[in-house]
Amino acid sequence: MIWQSLGLRLAQRLELPPGEVRAIPARGGDINQSVMLELGEHRIFVKTNRAPLLPMFEAERAGLDAIRSSATIRVPEVYLTGVESGLAFIAMEFIGFSGRPDPARLARALAAMHNSFHDRFGFECDNTIGSTSQPNPFNDDWIEFWRLHRLGYQLELARQNGFDSRLVDAGYRLAENLDGFFDAYRPRPSLLHGDLWSGNQDADADGNPVIFDPACYYGDHEADLAMMELFGHPGELFFEVYREHFPIDIGYSLRRELYNLYHVLNHANLFGGGYGAQALRMIDGLLRH
Ligand code: ADP
Repeated sequence: MIWQSLGLRLAQRLELPPGEVRAIPARGGDINQSVMLELGEHRIFVKTNRAPLLPMFEAERAGLDAIRSSATIRVPEVYLTGVESGLAFIAMEFIGFSGRPDPARLARALAAMHNSFHDRFGFECDNTIGSTSQPNPFNDDWIEFWRLHRLGYQLELARQNGFDSRLVDAGYRLAENLDGFFDAYRPRPSLLHGDLWSGNQDADADGNPVIFDPACYYGDHEADLAMMELFGHPGELFFEVYREHFPIDIGYSLRRELYNLYHVLNHANLFGGGYGAQALRMIDGLLRH
């Protein structure tokens, strides 16, 4: 039985005495099956999926480890990734969540994380955004990175998925004209969460903000801020406090739409529905700029 054998492996990893393992189904995410394992007093959060998807969990681990190493915002500590009884898994610290994080605390913590820089854009491995793969080859040039590996990658998927050629053609026209959105703005490679919608943020029992389920890379901090405004809004106080620790360039309000186009295209590729039409409206608006 998977939970018994996984429990045994985790007990060894955490140097706990082997004992009874209890598996309690947890509120699931969109992609994976989640379980809370109890090893005596110890609680562990485990996500499982098909065995070939192990690299997805290894990339999640690399992202969580990178954020953890920045020592700026709480993320779950990852204990183990692997395959058990034919299923890929990631096992991490279980955090008892208490609800939406305080905006000012979240702002300070995220600004600190964004103030952790790399010398290039990209990440040590590719990862996934939703269940779509997200390429992260290192690049010195942010605009080129974003054109090729964010907008261009989703447009190619849209073409393969048979989306209206108007969407794909207009998208490529936009991709060829990205310079106009940047003027003198030259972002630095900040450590990003990469998928910072409200469902991937919470607070622990002491009110410390916690983020999880990342799609990390080093990129323009505005890309994380934009995603926070795509499905919901963190509120004005968040931005006021954030700006005190990491100034936001005047051109953000325009680039926000560009950065969120990536996520809307990803939704179109994953779910179809009205997202294709929304992406086309966004592209048309951006091309008029
Ligand atoms: P998925 O990868 O399937 O989208 P998530 O990582 O978003 O799954 O997790 C699903 C839900 O489980 C989250 O919305 C959150 O409420 C909860 N959760 C995630 N990580 C932890 C954790 N380390 N401890 C406790 N609960 C967690």
